[in-house]
Amino acid sequence: MTPPRAFVIAGVTIKPNEVRNVSIEVAQTYTGQPVTIRFQVWNSAVPGPVVMVSGAIHGDEINGSGIIREIIRSKSFKLKCGTLVLVPVVNVLGFEQHNRYMPDRRDLNRFFPGKLDGSLTSRFARTFFDEIVRKCDYVIDIHSAAWTRTNFPNVRADLGHPTIAKFASSLGCEIIVNDKGPKGSLRQEAVKAGVPTILLEAGEVNKVEPIIVEFGLRMVTGALFGLGMIDKKGRDPLYQATVRRSVWVRATAGGLLDYHVAPGDVVEKGQAVATSMTLLGEEQHVITAPFGGVVIGMTTLPAVMPGDPVIHLGQIVGGYRRIMKIVNAASSKTLHERLRTDLQTNVVVVERED
Ligand SMILES: [Zn+2]
Repeated sequence: MTPPRAFVIAGVTIKPNEVRNVSIEVAQTYTGQPVTIRFQVWNSAVPGPVVMVSGAIHGDEINGSGIIREIIRSKSFKLKCGTLVLVPVVNVLGFEQHNRYMPDRRDLNRFFPGKLDGSLTSRFARTFFDEIVRKCDYVIDIHSAAWTRTNFPNVRADLGHPTIAKFASSLGCEIIVNDKGPKGSLRQEAVKAGVPTILLEAGEVNKVEPIIVEFGLRMVTGALFGLGMIDKKGRDPLYQATVRRSVWVRATAGGLLDYHVAPGDVVEKGQAVATSMTLLGEEQHVITAPFGGVVIGMTTLPAVMPGDPVIHLGQIVGGYRRIMKIVNAASSKTLHERLRTDLQTNVVVVERED
């Protein structure tokens, strides 16, 4: 879709070279007050792609809101063509409660495209989908790890779709997880509706983490540069690897964990990733990696029961050794290494003495 020089969204016309804040009513409160999503549109004078960046579809995953705020505040790039739609908080009702879910306890990101005569969540999803998502050519939907977990930044995308694969790569993220996303997710349903959509997973819930904001700004810059919408380049990743499958490595005993790896680390098969200790410091069990790969996520809560997730390990297409060498040789000044160091402080990594 090539937009005319004026761009219409949610019934509002944005003129060429205009930056405009727009509100759309998506629900009403118990007291009958309108519930609105506020967003900002940058419309250039030259036709080009329409790109949406969205945050907080899960109301407590606010790193995306922080990244979008930084795009607006820093004005670090200027559009030479196309239109940018910035939606810092999609699930405004969950956000009000610091909650992932909607007030009817549903997960908004399982209800797209939604129905106008359905549940509260379904109606909300439908209005957002029809009035905003369908007006876009590309979407970057930003999430964070679930409660008590953190994610090393990774892009999730259906790489079987060439346009999406190219878009996913253009962000300049080291790790790309190849999957379609769950049924009813914005990503899967937008792709079905012809809008190439990818997801950026980064950091923790209930936080706007400075290093994630810095990384996210670079990701969006890379995407817009890749589409020819801005002159500013994103970043060259330290490496780029596709994760073909991932597993949660789980605790086998109740107690406190000593972590031996951090998000973004590349591990060998059989490497100790955590040791389960009793509360009095006795060693119970060493948890090891079932295969070599990259740590894409982990728990930040070291108190575990048997079966609780410890690390989210990704298996790399083409093997992990190439990446291990690159990561081990990387300068501490690179964004990748600053990220790894920063996220490590959340989990207190200790060396295992063998
Ligand atoms: Zn999420």
